[in-house]
Amino acid sequence: MATAGRLLQNLVTGLRTHVASSRSSLLNSTQGPRRRYLSFHRSDAPLAGPSSFSLRSHTCGELRSHHVGHRVILCGWAQYLRQDLFVILRDFSGLTQVLIPQEESASHLKAVLSELTAESVIKVTGTVRRRPAGQENKMPTGEIEVITEDVEVFNVCCKLPFEIKDFVKKSESLRMQYRYLDLRSSQMQKNLRLRSQLVMKMREYLCNVQGFVDVETPTLFKRTPGGAKEFVVPSREPGLFFSLPQSPQQFKQLLMVAGIDRYFQVARCYRDEGSKPDRQPEFTQVDIEMSFVDQTGIMSLVEGMLQHSWPAEKGSIKVPFQTMTYEVAMRDYGVDKPDLRFNMKLIDITEIFTVEVEFLRSALSQPGGSIQAICVPSGAVRENTSCEELLNRTQAKPGDLLLMAAGPLHTRPLLGKLRLRCAELLESCGVSLRDPSAFHFLWVVDFPLFLPKEDEPEQLESAHHPFTAALLEDAHLLYTEPHKVRGQHYDLVLNGCEIGGGSIRIHKASEQLHVLKNILKEDPSLLSHLLEALDSGAPPHGGIALGLDRLTSIIVGADSIRDVIAFPKSFRGRDIMSRAPDTVSEEELKPYHISVRWPTEGGEEGK
Ligand code: ASP
Repeated sequence: MATAGRLLQNLVTGLRTHVASSRSSLLNSTQGPRRRYLSFHRSDAPLAGPSSFSLRSHTCGELRSHHVGHRVILCGWAQYLRQDLFVILRDFSGLTQVLIPQEESASHLKAVLSELTAESVIKVTGTVRRRPAGQENKMPTGEIEVITEDVEVFNVCCKLPFEIKDFVKKSESLRMQYRYLDLRSSQMQKNLRLRSQLVMKMREYLCNVQGFVDVETPTLFKRTPGGAKEFVVPSREPGLFFSLPQSPQQFKQLLMVAGIDRYFQVARCYRDEGSKPDRQPEFTQVDIEMSFVDQTGIMSLVEGMLQHSWPAEKGSIKVPFQTMTYEVAMRDYGVDKPDLRFNMKLIDITEIFTVEVEFLRSALSQPGGSIQAICVPSGAVRENTSCEELLNRTQAKPGDLLLMAAGPLHTRPLLGKLRLRCAELLESCGVSLRDPSAFHFLWVVDFPLFLPKEDEPEQLESAHHPFTAALLEDAHLLYTEPHKVRGQHYDLVLNGCEIGGGSIRIHKASEQLHVLKNILKEDPSLLSHLLEALDSGAPPHGGIALGLDRLTSIIVGADSIRDVIAFPKSFRGRDIMSRAPDTVSEEELKPYHISVRWPTEGGEEGK
């Protein structure tokens, strides 16, 4: 043991010397004046952590009273400059107060530091001292300050469109235009770091605990039927185009046919869906596929992954998550992604009304006609209302508000939306309804496999995607009454937002062909590669994709997914900073056999 211990120690010392000397040779060769700090680096340079291999010895958020007397090097941005007395230096980790020496002998330092502008980038060498009594503050580094002994100015900040202070409000478009400045805010720094940790732990769980393989799939793909609109990419062959994939769905299924067995990827996906709030034309999914698995297997895997990767500071999450069928979700909440952090369920009051009222009679005579109500606490039900049965059924009390809707089919989604709107209104009036720190996960299962198309109700479309298998007990209906078939499709909902969805797949070519050709009326030749693959020994398989942007935004409590994406697109799907999309000259378009037909006056908005 003693020998092993010595060996280890020698190894560490050797490594330390090696790191320090490679740094010193680098500094010697490129940065002459820094040579004077080399002795400092040799003894104190950390081998690992946020200051390893760095010009600094510590980060700006790191120093505490036990560092008093240490000589340190800090690098960062000048956040505040105070009366020629001190500079508050900032980096990703926090702030440190740096004292400007006042002695005559240090007048050159004073001159440099006093002339700094906010957001200039400097390196300060100095000694940590305890702040004089009474001058401590609540900053994590508020017990100490650093007395400057040397300073190097790396870059003087000339111009700022807004101040980098969390309390300074800026419009979203300004934040987007100067994203590199917006990202300096402590909130954005925290969000991106939390996201990075989350992904790292998901990878760790999938690869190291559960034996998954991280496989990259192409982003230049072809247009395929079903699902969202795809972005088109021109090719040099006349009339031929790639498409950007809306998800790696087909590739991950092909990887199962290939025997990869357990695949995952942190995958960029693209959907040309125009401007929708809280959607991005490009977004990231944690994409998963497994062979020889059933629905419960995938659900347990995701629960384990989320539990493993959940940020400790956000509390722990309990598994298994609650499960609800699509039917119950629609019946009780009017939506397939119910927010279960508050009650206010929909109540069917059809039977209470003896259809005397003409508009109720006609509403109820239509197929699916019903009368639904929600009871909003602290609303305005009159105490002397005569409709006792209604009050009994809804349990409404004096002071509550009853909202009712009558009609075919759409009453539930309508009241489902009103339920959420009521919650927002009540909360804006100070009623505490939903715990902002609660995370309520829910699996929604047993979706219909097909739904009527909105613009063409007699035609069916996939509720999830065309590759989803039917529930075993409904499979025979695929050939007779496809609208009655439920799918092996599951969605994961967090606090009323869909954060993931997946399914067990069709793994037989004949069934896949029937769904594409006879039910969805799609051209199966577009998917001949998949159909052929399914005919060549495809294992039963299934998977899921989690929307990483949305999941992270809920965890950090951000208002928008843009707050957890480093360089997001604007509401209109543009990059405001670089002004993408941008024009391409006719010359550059020639190899693609494309010419632009500019919109005419009064037509669509041109450039
Ligand atoms: N590819 C699907 C999606 O993007 C997820 C899945 O079925 O695994 O929604």
